[in-house]
Amino acid sequence: MRPTSGPLCGPTYGAGTSGQQAIAWRVVPPRSPETLWPPPDWDCPENKLPPRRREGVWMDFSLSEQQEMLRKIARDFFTNELPKSSVKEMAKDTRGYSLELWHKMADLGWMGLVLPEEYGGSGGSFVDLAILLEEMGRACLPGPFFSTVVLGASIVMEAGSEVQRERLLPKLARGELVLTLAVAEPYVLSHTGVFEVRARNVEGGYIIDGTKLFVPDAHVADYIICAAKTGRGSTLFLVDTKSHGLSCTVLPAMSSERQCEVKFNQVKVSKADVLGKVNRGKEYIDKVLTRAAAAKCAEMLGGAEQVMEMTVAYAKERVQFGRAIGAFQAIQHHCANMLNDLDACRCVARRAVWMVSEGMPCAREVSLAKAWVNEAYHRMTLLGHEIHGAIAFQHDHDMHLYFKQAKLGEMAFGDTAYHEEIIAREMGL
Ligand SMILES: Cc1cc2nc3c(=O)[nH]c(=O)nc-3n(C[C@H](O)[C@H](O)[C@H](O)COP(=O)(O)OP(=O)(O)OC[C@H]3O[C@@H](n4cnc5c(N)ncnc54)[C@H](O)[C@@H]3O)c2cc1C
Repeated sequence: MRPTSGPLCGPTYGAGTSGQQAIAWRVVPPRSPETLWPPPDWDCPENKLPPRRREGVWMDFSLSEQQEMLRKIARDFFTNELPKSSVKEMAKDTRGYSLELWHKMADLGWMGLVLPEEYGGSGGSFVDLAILLEEMGRACLPGPFFSTVVLGASIVMEAGSEVQRERLLPKLARGELVLTLAVAEPYVLSHTGVFEVRARNVEGGYIIDGTKLFVPDAHVADYIICAAKTGRGSTLFLVDTKSHGLSCTVLPAMSSERQCEVKFNQVKVSKADVLGKVNRGKEYIDKVLTRAAAAKCAEMLGGAEQVMEMTVAYAKERVQFGRAIGAFQAIQHHCANMLNDLDACRCVARRAVWMVSEGMPCAREVSLAKAWVNEAYHRMTLLGHEIHGAIAFQHDHDMHLYFKQAKLGEMAFGDTAYHEEIIAREMGL
């Protein structure tokens, strides 16, 4: 467990903090025997499976005391430590984030929040991580938290050997290591598992050749986990970014995020740097990218909540034609539509997160969430812009940060069309 002293120190997250506790499915007391749910003979233990699409059933989003505390600490921390002026400053910085802030976040135990205690983590659940990500989305946190914790640490936990976990995870939990995952290529944007980047088996290891695209935060990463074609499938390799033959270029991007083109020119890696089983890379990537899509929904949900609050506050204070613009029906309807979208985002995103946290099969639910949040957050930012009138178009205003976050999130870990295909497949079509 992490120490709990110090003004900014987070709560401990040990055994007992589970997603089930955080987001439980509750059943409204039945009014008559016909509407009885769950039926008396329902054999699902502890009501674990969500009884979807049944009348009289609702979902309770309430958080545990510890989780409420985590949310509060995170919100206060970002309010004090990351004003939007700093977010905009960091966009001009070469690294793209503040190392000082990174270390403060590590001191709070956030890098190791979901790692087991034996690796220096706090043993928290995926729901706990999602709470943090929502706050990060609200704050528009720049930097490699997502790539290190959601992508890198997940892959190491999923595929890494005990030796690799012990080598990497305690350092990661202390904030001393930045990881990222390289999947996309010029002709492979989604994780189909058919890569052109190839790893040749040679004496004592492998030689990797090819180009990866849109690798998040590769310019500041210590290791890139690279998915490459091997023999009869794909394999994951842990590549030191100081390796001979590896070069990295930050791609020009719309927002302050850093995505890189990484070229592997005969980069040698040893057998000890193979992550997981050879030719089984796709299985690990599929799992981790499903988690990443759910995590991205949580981050986008936080941003969407902030857009809603900001916009309603503006509609109440901005006076036009002799009264607050929120008094006009046109603005009221825009706000109502935004709230509708936000509410649905909250439902689908938190359901997806909870199911991931509980280890349930949830490909359909995660895809439903991502497809919906992609579109809804985008719509919300457009209406938010419109309600703010001309001011939101200026870089001085915060609204543009959220519009860019929505656009970026939409493309990350599967756009809407990609997830709709998964939903259709899951429906047996
Ligand atoms: C950086 C920048 C670049 C721009 N570039 C261009 C450009 O290239 N071309 C161009 O033509 N214009 C441009 N504009 C001007 C911009 O298009 C207008 O200012 C914008 O359309 C908003 O109009 P407004 O100034 O009247 O809104 P504001 O006066 O800011 O409106 C205030 C609020 O009143 C609300 N409101 C307005 N009318 C009503 C109504 N009838 N009922 C209820 N609520 C209402 C609005 O939604 C808004 O929330 C630019 C502005 C900026 C800041």
